[in-house]
Amino acid sequence: METLNPFQPVGLAPKPLLGLDSEPIAALCKQIADAAAQTDDDKTFPEEAFSRLAEAGLLAVTLPGRQLDSRSPKTSQLLQLLKRIGAANLSVGRVYEGHINALNLIHLYATQEQKTRWYADVSQYKRLFSVWNTQAADGIKIHALANGRYRLEGAKTFCSGSGWIQRPLITGQLLGDPSGQGWQMCIIPTERVDAIAQDTSFWQPLGMRASVSYKLDFTGLEISREDLLGQPDDYYRQPYFSGGASRFAAVQLGGAEALFNATRALLASMNRTDDPIQRTRLAEMAWLIESGNQWLKAAGENTDAWLADENETEKIVAYTNMTRTAIEEICLRVMPLAERSVGARGLMRPLPFERIHRDLTFYLRQPAPDATVLDIGRYVLDNPQNAHELWR
Ligand SMILES: Cc1cc2nc3c(=O)[nH]c(=O)nc-3n(C[C@H](O)[C@H](O)[C@H](O)COP(=O)(O)OP(=O)(O)OC[C@H]3O[C@@H](n4cnc5c(N)ncnc54)[C@H](O)[C@@H]3O)c2cc1C
Repeated sequence: METLNPFQPVGLAPKPLLGLDSEPIAALCKQIADAAAQTDDDKTFPEEAFSRLAEAGLLAVTLPGRQLDSRSPKTSQLLQLLKRIGAANLSVGRVYEGHINALNLIHLYATQEQKTRWYADVSQYKRLFSVWNTQAADGIKIHALANGRYRLEGAKTFCSGSGWIQRPLITGQLLGDPSGQGWQMCIIPTERVDAIAQDTSFWQPLGMRASVSYKLDFTGLEISREDLLGQPDDYYRQPYFSGGASRFAAVQLGGAEALFNATRALLASMNRTDDPIQRTRLAEMAWLIESGNQWLKAAGENTDAWLADENETEKIVAYTNMTRTAIEEICLRVMPLAERSVGARGLMRPLPFERIHRDLTFYLRQPAPDATVLDIGRYVLDNPQNAHELWR
């Protein structure tokens, strides 16, 4: 199989960096956080947040020549950005992460003509992308017809952003195509196909309501060959498939940071910051969150360094698996510390804790957590070098 080199020479000069610690980013995140309670609803998409992200250029931030150009080793900065948006609103972070994921798959697998078209969708038309892979027994089949046309059959579950996404990347079983069979990606040009049926009753979640992750039925929709992305089974190519888990872990850590910030603010407002037990809990939250930051930093830097070497694929996957597992654990430990610190009165609206708690609890449920841990164990047993050399 051909080896991908994701980092090619960057011809265009990048625009000046909009620093992640800059005032405009902080102001943007504050606006998104302040509006989060208004969209804490199963049927309300945070449209305003995405208008703001588009205005700030953040929908296009990984495109060629932009600040976090996918062709350059900027994974750590991207993870920090995802964390900041997740801290503002986990549902916005989830949908934004899906958009960035789709653009990365385009960067890896699209033809030049497709890149031009889909990048223009983002940079000129500010269209939102997403990746919808999860499905139930009635999942997607992509039937090849004559003349380069394809008919879709079946549904996807957990379609974050649902009808608000103009360019969903969906996956399905390609059938009857002489050029190949397998798990095929395609990007639906929503304004050029029939309406996609939405099952809103699917979405009655504990949290993450504003991600409006409905079940969508694509049966009967017809698309063209130009809408197919990459070759069958490219979607599962490693290290890109598992390696992306550090992105959702970054969004999750943002949720833990939001709880930490809100806990300190509430304790200060109640003059409870001198209490030694509260200080002990806040200390534990602080070092847990900072260890999460160190995981993100190391995952970003190691991934960028190891991607250049095709022999390091397994190592990237194992390191990303450790990162997502460690950050899940960190979030699960931060939540009860925050609960105990703020008490029952802190867990009532309009304070943000109960919403963030619901959102984070639900968003921590990501694919195959047990298999992820098993795979880390397999890797470290199959690679018996000294511990201090394992992740060099
Ligand atoms: C808010 C939110 C938004 C989402 N948005 C999207 C999206 O936009 N696109 C998308 O594609 N997906 C999306 N998802 C789906 C997500 O990627 C995961 O697929 C989903 O959360 C996993 O569901 P689950 O926990 O029910 O999985 P399960 O796989 O059922 O896992 C539940 C538990 O069962 C274990 N388990 C798994 N398989 C087996 C087995 N065979 N035998 C025994 N135990 C098993 C797991 O380890 C875990 O402990 C979203 C999820 C959430 C929560």
